[in-house]
Amino acid sequence: MIIAANFKTNHTRKSTKEYIETLDKYVSSLKNDDSVLVFPPSTALDKFNLTENISIGVQNAYPVEKGSFTGEIGLEQIEEFKIDTTLIGHSERRHVLGESQDEVREKYTFFKSKGFQIVYCIGEPKEVREQGIEAVMAYNFSQLEGIDLEYENLIIAYEPVWAIGTGLTASNEQIEETLALLKNKIKSPILYGGSVKVANTKEILEIKNCDGILVGTASWDVDAFCQMIEIADNI
Ligand code: PEP
Repeated sequence: MIIAANFKTNHTRKSTKEYIETLDKYVSSLKNDDSVLVFPPSTALDKFNLTENISIGVQNAYPVEKGSFTGEIGLEQIEEFKIDTTLIGHSERRHVLGESQDEVREKYTFFKSKGFQIVYCIGEPKEVREQGIEAVMAYNFSQLEGIDLEYENLIIAYEPVWAIGTGLTASNEQIEETLALLKNKIKSPILYGGSVKVANTKEILEIKNCDGILVGTASWDVDAFCQMIEIADNI
């Protein structure tokens, strides 16, 4: 199982360090081989001394080694911390910050060429979900245009936009149906994300074809995130 925490624009450098120390102690005490990913804000990136099950990733980066892209970070800034994991295509980048599929694909192609582990996010908005499963799948597949689905370090995160940060979770039936249809095309692990919390972690992780979870809000509390890892450990 893959259990991932997206801090978004939360936590400071100090609180991230404390969080990761607590998390590392907890994960080191487990016997499982679950993979734990943490995406802190870029100001809190560092070389952390971690058990091998935990990886730190960046939430976003510009697809260049270095250059003149004010406000962005590139490969050089990431590699300083020996980081080789990134999120790409998160719904907040697509829908709030206006990233196009062309920009998302460019990032994917660049970080794939550098061998990064990529958590690639897709997911439909509410008005598309309301049109039914065919529209949902057409939308999700359109977000995979230009993406090499054979890439060995690819992880897909299916995150319906209407379920992210809203407290609304897709029903187990909706998740199961969507994951099954995605799995017809994709061999990579697929995570579900969208208002996952301790109380619904078990039922979501037990859904067929669900290989893990990408958690935003509920992951910001290290104790809650450790409880989710413990649930995964017991499945
Ligand atoms: C996310 O940021 O990927 C996410 C799923 O957020 P939340 O858990 O808050 O819905």
